[in-house]
Amino acid sequence: MYLKSIEISGFKSFGKKSVLDFNVPISAIVGPNGSGKSNVAEAFSFVLGEQSIKSLRGKRAEDLIFNGGKDAPRSNRASVKLVFNNVQRIFNIDFDEVAIERVVNRDSSSEYLINGSAVRLKDIVELLSGAHIGASGHQIISQGEADKVLNSNIRERREMIEDALGLKIYQNKKDESIRKLEKTEENIKQVESLRREIAPHIRFLKKQVEKIEKMFEMKENLTKMYHDYFRREEEYIKFEKQSISFEKNPLVAESHNLEKELAEAKQVLAKSSSKDSRSDDVIKVEGKIKEIRSVKDGLMRNMGRLEGEISSLLRLIKKQNEANSAMSKKTVNLFEVENVSKQIDLEIADATEDADISKIKQIFVSIKKILRDFIEKNKESEDKEAIAELEIEIKKLETEKNGYDTKLKEANSLETELSEQYSYLKSDIEKEKDSNRDAEKALFRIVAEQNEIRGKLNGLNSRESVLKHNEDELNRELQEASVLVGVSALRYKDFWPTNADGIALSLDQIVKEPRQVQEEKKHVMEKIKIRLEDAGVSGGDDVVKEYKETTERDTFLERELGDLIKSSESLKNLITELEEKLTTEFKNGVEKINIQFQQFFSAMFGGGSASLLVVKEKKKKKSDTDINSAMAELEGDEIKEDEEESEEGLDIEVSLPKKKTKGLMMLSGGERALTSIALLFAISQVNPPPFIILDETDAALDEANSRKYGEMISALSKYSQLILITHNRETMARAGIIYGVTMGSDGVSRLLSIQFEEAVQVAK
Ligand code: ATP
Repeated sequence: MYLKSIEISGFKSFGKKSVLDFNVPISAIVGPNGSGKSNVAEAFSFVLGEQSIKSLRGKRAEDLIFNGGKDAPRSNRASVKLVFNNVQRIFNIDFDEVAIERVVNRDSSSEYLINGSAVRLKDIVELLSGAHIGASGHQIISQGEADKVLNSNIRERREMIEDALGLKIYQNKKDESIRKLEKTEENIKQVESLRREIAPHIRFLKKQVEKIEKMFEMKENLTKMYHDYFRREEEYIKFEKQSISFEKNPLVAESHNLEKELAEAKQVLAKSSSKDSRSDDVIKVEGKIKEIRSVKDGLMRNMGRLEGEISSLLRLIKKQNEANSAMSKKTVNLFEVENVSKQIDLEIADATEDADISKIKQIFVSIKKILRDFIEKNKESEDKEAIAELEIEIKKLETEKNGYDTKLKEANSLETELSEQYSYLKSDIEKEKDSNRDAEKALFRIVAEQNEIRGKLNGLNSRESVLKHNEDELNRELQEASVLVGVSALRYKDFWPTNADGIALSLDQIVKEPRQVQEEKKHVMEKIKIRLEDAGVSGGDDVVKEYKETTERDTFLERELGDLIKSSESLKNLITELEEKLTTEFKNGVEKINIQFQQFFSAMFGGGSASLLVVKEKKKKKSDTDINSAMAELEGDEIKEDEEESEEGLDIEVSLPKKKTKGLMMLSGGERALTSIALLFAISQVNPPPFIILDETDAALDEANSRKYGEMISALSKYSQLILITHNRETMARAGIIYGVTMGSDGVSRLLSIQFEEAVQVAK
């Protein structure tokens, strides 16, 4: 026994909590009309997840909640709880007891609970279907629905059988898979459409990005070239500046020196203008020398003449004297002798008084002279006068000669002076001539050197101005580069040029590189610049970002599409598998049911035949749950609304014993009830649910059939617990527990466990 109890609280007429325990195979619920028996059956349907309010005999969810009665306030919620014994794990849940509960509130909100934990309806349905308790309610036969299985169409019947066979779980899975498949295919279409939508944009962005990447590449190349070019240019300019100043400085110094030299030479040459006056001086001195020489010649001639006259006069005197020396013993005048003696005495007196020897010596000389003069005077001959005259003449001549001599000496000294003056002037002029020549030479040399220096300086200056131009160009290019490729272009100082093998070049190699090479590089860079400007892709980063994001999105969509296609494939496979499983199990199940059906039927009717037939029926409208149509649609085949579809279902074929009539339509009410019961029992026996509720299924049976019904119930109760709502005495007699339901004046249903006899009374 699996079903332990039902607890009904606030549901329909059960305004108060009522509990029915079912610890026997057959329980019966009896009571007068309108006491609330069917509400118990509906409480089962409700708790098992029935979604149709209508089938619970209500219009709104509110109709399910106890509406109150006289002295009984209305309930705010209706709750029904079923308690199962799960020791045998009929439910796939690891509890020995399973309580399934449903609550509905006045605001129509509904709750499901398994062992007190809130769950979804889906969880309840899954849990129940695992225990052969289907949502179609095949195990709950409501009042007046005994022949429901006969009245329903082939599809409904098929669903009921599927449910009873426990195939509902597969069907649900299939339906869910189809829904998922539809959703997946819809998603696939959406994703494909999204991808189609963004594809042109991606293509556009890709082209833009390619352009931008090319531009970046060009910029990168240009930056590298700039680094090489700028560094080389800077080094070249630096070096060239140094080398120009190195060459220029000595030239400037030299030029200054030459200027000085030139000034000096000019000064020298300016001095030479006084040369003519000096030449005049020379001529003048020459004239004077000539003059003095002729004066000298005259003087010499006069002197010679005078010397000749003197010497002839001297010879004359000599002859006279020789004549005089022949005279001896000459008498001298005493007075003269005394006079001489006096003179000598005077001298001697002076000498005695004077101690100075030199004065004494002088005095001796004077004495000697006095004596000689006295002698000489006395020697004079009678021609003394002639001689004296001659001597006078000689003296005269000598005086004249001395005069000439003095003049000659003067002339000589003048001549010497003039000669010196002359030679000084001469040498001065010569000297001046030399220095002029030197100055002139220097002038030529200086001018030549100055020209040479000027030429060199001009060369250097033009190199300088070229260099200035280069420097200006470099600055301009640096500015341009920073605008075109950004500040990274200006980091060329961190870079040192290398050769093709990446080996750093020497400074010498850099500065000695032919300028043409730099020019060529510049030319190439110019070309790149033009191409860059032509490319003119603005907002590069944004475009790249957008392209990245869009392609990422596309990749994501592609991946998602792949996943969706995969899941669509696996859903299709699953659906096919489920379809196959359903077909096979359904077929097998129907075969098994048919065996039981036949048995129950012939037991009921004492013969005859009854069976379920799998049939296909044409129908006009496509069925949502039909796998074939769903698949066809998914595969892109459109299904026209008016196209006929075949639907598989179950038909019932009956043939009563001893009667020619066949088919359900021909059965009486009782026969229909019996056939239904036979089928229900057959179904229940093939795949027994834990419990079956039969609400007055036996109402239409006569006594004989009620007995047969009762026997079948007993047989069936071996497989499933039975809860029978009945007025039938025969049925009641087979119940282990009988619950009486009553309703007082307050409109509240009440329960009481009663004995069979009481039950018979209550039922009446
Ligand atoms: P019968 O033997 O005639 O089939 P029954 O015992 O099966 O009768 P039910 O049909 O179960 O009786 O009960 C019907 C009673 O339940 C009615 O009296 C109805 O007024 C009452 N009822 C139904 N819904 C509510 C509700 N929401 N609140 C209160 N009473 C309700």
